Amino acid sequence: MNAVSASAETPANAPFDHDVTIVGAGPVGLALAGWLARRSATQDLSIALVDAREPDDSAGDPRAIAVSQGSRTLVEALAWPHDATAIERIHVSQRGHFGRTLIDRHDYDLPALGYVARYGSIVQALAQAVRGTRAHWLHHTQAHDPVIEHDGVTLPIVSAGVERRLRTRILVNAEGGLYRPASHETGEKCGPARAEPRRTRDYGQTALVGVVTVAAPQPHVAWERFTNEGPIALLPMGGVRGADYALVWCGAPELAERRARLADADFLAELGAAFGARMGRFTHVHGRAAFPLGLNALDALVSGHGRIAAVGNAAQTLHPVAGQGLNLGLRDAHALADALAQHGASPRALAAFAARRAFDRRMTIGATDTLARLFTVDFAPLAALRGLALTALEFAPPVKTALARQMMFGQRI
Ligand SMILES: Cc1cc2nc3c(=O)[nH]c(=O)nc-3n(C[C@H](O)[C@H](O)[C@H](O)COP(=O)(O)OP(=O)(O)OC[C@H]3O[C@@H](n4cnc5c(N)ncnc54)[C@H](O)[C@@H]3O)c2cc1C
Repeated sequence: MNAVSASAETPANAPFDHDVTIVGAGPVGLALAGWLARRSATQDLSIALVDAREPDDSAGDPRAIAVSQGSRTLVEALAWPHDATAIERIHVSQRGHFGRTLIDRHDYDLPALGYVARYGSIVQALAQAVRGTRAHWLHHTQAHDPVIEHDGVTLPIVSAGVERRLRTRILVNAEGGLYRPASHETGEKCGPARAEPRRTRDYGQTALVGVVTVAAPQPHVAWERFTNEGPIALLPMGGVRGADYALVWCGAPELAERRARLADADFLAELGAAFGARMGRFTHVHGRAAFPLGLNALDALVSGHGRIAAVGNAAQTLHPVAGQGLNLGLRDAHALADALAQHGASPRALAAFAARRAFDRRMTIGATDTLARLFTVDFAPLAALRGLALTALEFAPPVKTALARQMMFGQRI
């Protein structure tokens, strides 16, 4: 989304269609609409939600997402996916080198460290919570670059080939990130314009995702295994005997593309060789798809003379190594809903939102970028350093606790 300032010809002072218009009904935009519709009841804010797709289009999204315990406490009053599987323990290790650490829910006195659910079921649950509120939802509607005026924003939208303009006091960019799924048909998004200052990094990696079944499952245990090629994450998804796992296998793009095309048996054998035998043989795989990875984080969450806010992947697209993207985005949306409910649809609300989110963003983006670089580079001295880091975590419980808490709850101010 590339905002431009109003020219002399732009008609100003026209009536507003909405107080707050949210572009993007992904999980973050939906959560924001849901919270806002509930919290702004006394302010009577009028809310519009615009998306090029509709929630059912997300049903085939191949991603499974680890939603942290902290995110659960934020969203469960709004919605909760029907297929959420608890993660009770996380086992972190590296292949071919020393060093491993265990993170267990009992150490933090929590019901779970997080939950694994399909992207589509998270979207469906949140969509259900938004339907029936007074948020005005425009499906199959594409938003184009907004125009900033002195008192608001004009958003050109196109629906069924017909273009019209929405006037809104505040515009929220929740349209997702720069990197689109390489083999996901419905992910037609090409990513926001790069005009605003931002921090970017190409990790030279692609994530191959899919659902695999193992012969000797350890239900409710998640695995993060670092290999010379990149991290392998296996997230418990339940299924018969708890044997289904969501796989996120990061590696060089050409490797990921080759693996995406392998026959099932060859793929399972290659995965077994890379992950090891901790859960026995890999017996089945389905739903393989590839996502190119990178960091793409806006310097400032608020632009357009204080009238445009960015949340979720539109604000920061992260490497999935630490499972932080959606969790951070939900905290963005929650803080923005608070600020708009408190200060009304005004630049003051957006300034309060930006100030409140600065520290958490810095910490989460920095930690994820460091992990992604430290654990995705094939360089022998770094492998030793990784081993030391994992071992040190085992012997320094306060450090491990601080890291685990950051990953589960972020920094909420
Ligand atoms: C392989 C992989 C694994 C991941 N695992 C995790 C994990 O374990 N934990 C975690 O927290 N995060 C994870 N993530 C990150 C997570 O998927 C994202 O952070 C999250 O989906 C961002 O949600 P969003 O609502 O901001 O954007 P999106 O989910 O991208 O939604 C954006 C919406 O905007 C709409 N849109 C876009 N442009 C327009 C337009 N111009 N007009 C109208 N509509 C528009 C799209 O149709 C879409 O519905 C992972 C990501 C990947 C790739």
